[in-house]
Amino acid sequence: MIFPICFGRNIRTMSTFVSRINRITGKMEWDFRDDEYDFKQEIARSSYADMLHDTERNRLYYEGLKVAIELKRKAGQAVHVLDIGTGTGLLSMMAARLGADTVHACEAFTPMAECAKKIIAENGFTDKITVIPKRSTELKIGPDMPCRANILVTEVFDTELIGEGAISTFTHAHNELLEEGCIVVPSRGTVFIQLVSSELVRRWNQITDFSGPLDLRTPPGILRCGGAPSLHDLQLDQLPEDKFTKLSEPFKVFSFDFTGQSPLLADRTTKSSVEMIVSGSVDAVFMWWDLEMDPEGEITLSCAPHWAHPTPHNMQWRDHWMQAIYYPYSQLTVEKGETINVISKHDEYSLWFDVAKGHLQGGCLDDRPICTCGAHIAYSRSRMGMLSDPARRDTYTRILKQHIKAGESTVLCISDGSLLPLMAARLGAKHVYVIESNFLCTRVMGEFVTVNGLKDRVTILDRSVQDIQAADIPDKIDIVVGEPVFQTAVLPWDAISFWYIAQALGSCLSPGLVCLPRTLTVYALPVEYEHLWKIRANVGVSEGFDISQFDKLIQSNSESVDEVVEPQPLWEYPCRASGPVMPVLTVDGTQPLDSMPLLENVVQLHVDSNQPCNGIALWAEFNFGDDHVISTGPTQPIKIGCKVIWDYYSKQGVHLFYNNTKSSGQLLTNSAIEATVKFDPAHGELCFKFTPHWSNS
Ligand code: SAH
Ligand code: ZN
Repeated sequence: MIFPICFGRNIRTMSTFVSRINRITGKMEWDFRDDEYDFKQEIARSSYADMLHDTERNRLYYEGLKVAIELKRKAGQAVHVLDIGTGTGLLSMMAARLGADTVHACEAFTPMAECAKKIIAENGFTDKITVIPKRSTELKIGPDMPCRANILVTEVFDTELIGEGAISTFTHAHNELLEEGCIVVPSRGTVFIQLVSSELVRRWNQITDFSGPLDLRTPPGILRCGGAPSLHDLQLDQLPEDKFTKLSEPFKVFSFDFTGQSPLLADRTTKSSVEMIVSGSVDAVFMWWDLEMDPEGEITLSCAPHWAHPTPHNMQWRDHWMQAIYYPYSQLTVEKGETINVISKHDEYSLWFDVAKGHLQGGCLDDRPICTCGAHIAYSRSRMGMLSDPARRDTYTRILKQHIKAGESTVLCISDGSLLPLMAARLGAKHVYVIESNFLCTRVMGEFVTVNGLKDRVTILDRSVQDIQAADIPDKIDIVVGEPVFQTAVLPWDAISFWYIAQALGSCLSPGLVCLPRTLTVYALPVEYEHLWKIRANVGVSEGFDISQFDKLIQSNSESVDEVVEPQPLWEYPCRASGPVMPVLTVDGTQPLDSMPLLENVVQLHVDSNQPCNGIALWAEFNFGDDHVISTGPTQPIKIGCKVIWDYYSKQGVHLFYNNTKSSGQLLTNSAIEATVKFDPAHGELCFKFTPHWSNS
């Protein structure tokens, strides 16, 4: 479960200001919203819904509670349950139904505590369950609970297990709120890791050198850096097995005893001697954990990927707990049969890892490694991967080669943190200008320019387009080029800022200007999302409890804040094509945008017979002319009825038909979906509407 303040990966609300991107400048602006706004976002965007759809989690908590209550009964004790972080009240209602004498449920997030009260009343448990809208660490025996509890049930775990503060929550509960010898559901959490070698994974953390004729070097500060501060969580199961090599078997590194029998330490180190089963470079550490739901450890809930899962053919899909990748600080190449040391560390909230041969060097490891180069903060992981992707590099090299006249062309690059300026300079451009409005990117690009000896040929203009004077660009620009990628772009077509910025430079551009890319085309594909629909679908009844109050809360909040199209990295969320792909809009960036009329297209998307459909996938394609295309969409031809293979470095646009969804919300066979796309050139914004013509079958 992701704590509600985080309502999506990498996005956070900040008090009552929310960020909004101006597409014309590509810059972030702050909007003031009403006081209700944050909380609505938090609920609608939190992982509560997905967590409640995790039927395995729900069932195993129920089973764990059943064992705990029976054990206390057999011991002749009255059963007093404490539920920390009750959410919808689900685990408390389970305890009540299983015959607990008293149940106290606390919840730190007030709107959820209110929701829990309603749900508990609706299910007839008001007499049994006391909801306390407080953080567990604020509870007092006496005012809040009459006596210490002898069973604790709690689900305060995230993908990193301890990232939601489990260590302090459990420690406080054992000291202040629980009896000695109490039973805790779950009783134990175990962290597993596996060492892997993978070009693709390494590129998510590192900008690799350009070998070959371009010979561009990555600054040593980036190569030596401790890496990004945020957790790299992902649906590891979706990473094709031909994209990585397992260097070791999975092994346990930490066990967390939640029962209170041994103290939960807030800082720990373990060292493991691990035999390598294959030779290779140790690029990454894959991590996941499992929970033991009963004292004997017979009921296990596993978050392992399929190759390490106890029941690989019967696995629960979940998005609220994924797996994570860590990048070891030391770079090691290992031989098959060799034994190396793996050092695992955790503090109160996070984990980190390193590898070493023989004696450990330590140093970086005492504290969690941090980014000292700026690149890991400036770039997202997918952006790093994109910058290092050989196929993209090839395409851009071919495009630039075709247009740059050595010693003659003056080039302007518009894209945040792009390597295009360096490539253009190496390919002989007379001079290259770069607009970098993000100060972190400016710093990183400055390093790249220096390390590659291009200071006299590349000028970084570290300001936004409005602040650029004619004197900043003394030569007329012959070629404007962009990937185009911007830090502030969330959806694929947000990169439309590229043309607005280019056109704002009017007087600096030569009459025969070449603008690359030329056009943006948005494509729409009707699809069946295998699992993703669950993040917005109703929960209804869970383990026999009616949670529909929660659905109502989500729905009313989603309607006010949900975007029609939201960004998701679809390679992690499989879907099948349900009908043919359709272009829905093309914007010609070589035409003046300020005099362009409002565009509105209505396109019929067809859903094939026998192909279920529960949503739309959207992406953008940038056309550079002469068959040079950069796409944020599928990387292989689409076949109707088959899984779509997506780019690893982009997020796509997702529309879900969740209004009609009790289950997977399928719209069946031979139907049509009317897609309306509006492009408002005055604001650079695209707006979508999808109207399905539901079939009755
Ligand atoms: N128990 C529910 C909800 C789990 S989500 C279920 O299993 O369905 C975790 C919830 O715990 C969140 O609502 C979060 O707000 C709450 N929470 C986390 N730490 C807490 C703490 N120390 N005290 C009270 N609530 C907490
Ligand atoms: Zn860094």
